[in-house]
Amino acid sequence: KTTKCTVFTLLISWEEISGLDENYTPIRTYQVCQVMEPNQNNWLRTSWIEKGDAQRIFVELKFTLRDCNSLPGVVGTCKETFNLYYQETDSEVGRNIRENQYVKIDTIAADESFTQGDLGERKMKLNTEVRIIGPLSRRGFYLAFQDVGACIALVSVKVYYKKCWSIIENLATFPDTVTGSEFSSLVEVEGMCVSDAEEEADNSPKMHCSAEGEWLVPIGKCICKAGFHQKGDACEPCGRGFYKSSSQDLQCSRCPAHSYNDREGSWRCDCEDGYYRGLSDPPSVACTRPPSAPQNLVYNINQTTVSLEWSPPADTGGRNDVTYRIMCRRCSWEPEECVPCGGNVGYSPQQAGLVDTYVSVVDLLAHANYTFEVEAVNGVSDLSRTQRLFAAVSIATSQASKESDCEVIKERVQQRSIQLSWQEPEQPNGVITEYEIKYYEKDQKDRIYSTVKSRSTSATVNNLKPSTAYVFQIRAFTAAGYGTYGPRLEVTTKEEASGTSRTHAWILAKQTILPSASAQSVDCVSTSLPVRHCGYSKADQEGDEELYFQFKFPGTKTYIDPETYEDPNRAVHQFAKELDASCIKIERVIGAGEFGEVCSGRMKLPGKRDMSVAIKTLKVGYSEKQRRDFLCEASIMGQFDHPNVVHLEGVVTRGKPVMIVIEYMENGSLDAFLRKHDGQFTVIQLVGMLRGIAAGMRYLSDMGYVHRDLAARNVLVNSNLVCKVSDFGLSRVIDDDPEAVYTTTGGKIPVRWTAMEAIQYRKFTSASDVWSYGIVMWEVMSYGERPYWDMSNQDVIKAIEEGYRLPAPMDCPPGLHQLMLDCWQKDRADRPKFDQIVGILDKMIRNPNTLKTPVGTCTRPISPLLDQSTPDFTTFRSVGEWLEAIKMERYRDNFTAAGYSSLDSVARMSIEDVMSLGISLVGHQKKIMSSIQTMRAQMLHLHGTGIQV
Ligand code: AMP
Repeated sequence: KTTKCTVFTLLISWEEISGLDENYTPIRTYQVCQVMEPNQNNWLRTSWIEKGDAQRIFVELKFTLRDCNSLPGVVGTCKETFNLYYQETDSEVGRNIRENQYVKIDTIAADESFTQGDLGERKMKLNTEVRIIGPLSRRGFYLAFQDVGACIALVSVKVYYKKCWSIIENLATFPDTVTGSEFSSLVEVEGMCVSDAEEEADNSPKMHCSAEGEWLVPIGKCICKAGFHQKGDACEPCGRGFYKSSSQDLQCSRCPAHSYNDREGSWRCDCEDGYYRGLSDPPSVACTRPPSAPQNLVYNINQTTVSLEWSPPADTGGRNDVTYRIMCRRCSWEPEECVPCGGNVGYSPQQAGLVDTYVSVVDLLAHANYTFEVEAVNGVSDLSRTQRLFAAVSIATSQASKESDCEVIKERVQQRSIQLSWQEPEQPNGVITEYEIKYYEKDQKDRIYSTVKSRSTSATVNNLKPSTAYVFQIRAFTAAGYGTYGPRLEVTTKEEASGTSRTHAWILAKQTILPSASAQSVDCVSTSLPVRHCGYSKADQEGDEELYFQFKFPGTKTYIDPETYEDPNRAVHQFAKELDASCIKIERVIGAGEFGEVCSGRMKLPGKRDMSVAIKTLKVGYSEKQRRDFLCEASIMGQFDHPNVVHLEGVVTRGKPVMIVIEYMENGSLDAFLRKHDGQFTVIQLVGMLRGIAAGMRYLSDMGYVHRDLAARNVLVNSNLVCKVSDFGLSRVIDDDPEAVYTTTGGKIPVRWTAMEAIQYRKFTSASDVWSYGIVMWEVMSYGERPYWDMSNQDVIKAIEEGYRLPAPMDCPPGLHQLMLDCWQKDRADRPKFDQIVGILDKMIRNPNTLKTPVGTCTRPISPLLDQSTPDFTTFRSVGEWLEAIKMERYRDNFTAAGYSSLDSVARMSIEDVMSLGISLVGHQKKIMSSIQTMRAQMLHLHGTGIQV
């Protein structure tokens, strides 16, 4: 609000008089008091007042007025009012007043008038009156006061107009605004956004200035621009590490994952190196990266169609818009040069933008080599300049659809054999390395197939039943895999000549057919394919015994050396199931294998119950050879299926880590298990374990597999105490087994477990496995004692050569020790076969009386097995002396306190007795116990009597 002072034009009768106000402040007043004369008309006018922006003017008057009643003799002439006028002009108009040019505003009367006495006492009763004029249309105006006979003192005239003061409302600035011309009018004012703010769309800020100078009815608003947020009536920039992507957002937000900014006032954050924002990604989402390669790419080839299937990538890059695209390249064989497949190849459902994890590629050329790359892509893949990640396979197509590969012709039909021949297919898909002849008895209900393999285009299938119809089909095998089977050929064997029994035929087959078999055309893979050896020479296994093991009735499975496969990967997949890594959950590390950690975990295959498994992993950074050797174990184990041979569940080769998944054996390896439960099993339980191991070995030897490292440490035990033979890596004896030592014949051998002929001239056979089995028997019966205790390997070899053998362990039934000794026969032909061992053990289990240990019957040859450095216990005179000799004198007091004062009493101690002395270190318990056992054996030898234990 403003006030304007004005200078009055004094016309006739008005006087300018100085006085004091009620506060004794000097004031100037204009007075008139012509109350005695009639017809007064006295004018007082202001100077010209420029109105400026004002349209509606307020005039506030302060005055005093004399009460006529208080004036004697003025009746009829004295007045108590005056008139207020105004005149609008654009400029000053001189001093003359033309009354008719003035517009009357009002007649002003005093609310209170005063008397003479009041005046005298300077008690002026001041009246205040306000009048409004307008709307005004000229540049300025005059005010005029007309006195018509009153006694007035005009103390002040205030002339003013009203406006709304500048204000910031809703982030918009509204300027000073003069009120409207009418009392009821509102002045609409548009706001101006403060800096770094913008008008909200279709909602520009407005306010209304009322006639009273008040802002009313705000409409619309401004909002802070992107990168700025509101603080009070201003917009401030977002801090570092924050952004505001749009004016619509209220607050600045922290930079999303994998993005940053180091400036203030940012509307978005920049992506970290290697991360990107897709073209349609809002700034509020995390920066992302291209996905990793698809996993577990597998293919299926059907002539000129390849079906590819894979699992989603392990890392989607943080996005959920992963699709797949296929890159197909055709490669020449030699040298390998690849060109894109071009438009002649079809893709179903399509080549790129695949949402599902499979595709079929059709119309490939026959006999061609292709490489397929499957790349996972997402919304930022094309922005990334990093190397593409994809899963790739190289595949060779076979010939175009051709049902019949090998048409079979029967050559010679006998009672028990049929000789077949066939033509090589016209368009073989690469070099044929072998043929597979599949056959079954035509009338057999459950149609069990047998197969025979041959490298030539003929084969004789033996050991058939006479007068029986068989159906044969043949297919070829090349580097690209198996072709399709040819048409069926039905052949009936000849009638049996009278008097020839089945058994006889088998014996004949063993004796006459088999030696000539290799001269004929049955080319079993295990004997006639070019053999590349995986860790040891197959030649070692030649001989009658091996023929016995390897030539079986057709249909009996024979172990195939994985190294006979050109491509070790093919061997793995021939014998081991490829598992999806997502089905396997690794839980904890349980051991260290040669190639990496051994873990326990769980496996849940679709439609199957979840099961515990052991998982052997291949450590990162492996070489190709290590991978091959690692998977070699799976290729071997996968061929076995027996309750006493550790079962292979499958492998994960198409993902990392590469894994071999095996049934879980809760109690771990047998040697450690027995040591942990020293003395806790019955003899029957121990023999039960041995029977299991023998059955597993019988199965392996029947398959023609020579283990070469049978030892308690390589037998695993499950929660039901079932023992299973394990450890089949081909390189295991050389690299894996800490017991294996180099011998003079070259190569590493676990001397204490190995037969002499194997140590001396590497003659590893199932018979040498039988020797090792005898050592395992000894380990089991002595609860994991180390064979030959502390003797050096050299001394062991010497002792064995001289004909000495391990004595019976404590409490060992003599029948069992006899069986051990049989297993350790020098001449391997004299050793029992595993089949016989199983039979003997079965008999013992059926007749537990045979397992009783008559006191003193476990006689054994002792002293020659003792190392020269082993003290002769019979020479000790006291327990103290003995303890000193075995460097355990620290326990002298323990023995004395428990009352063991003589060596005789010590010789009767059991492991529990030793433990009850307070000897807690397992190593010391073992040492003392082992010494007690030897002491007992020496005493027995000396006295020829048993010691009651
Ligand atoms: P290996 O590589 O076979 O020598 O295995 C190393 C260790 O892992 C063994 O000594 C066992 O303690 C443990 N182990 C291996 N396979 C299994 C299994 N199938 N179940 C339980 N433990 C196993």
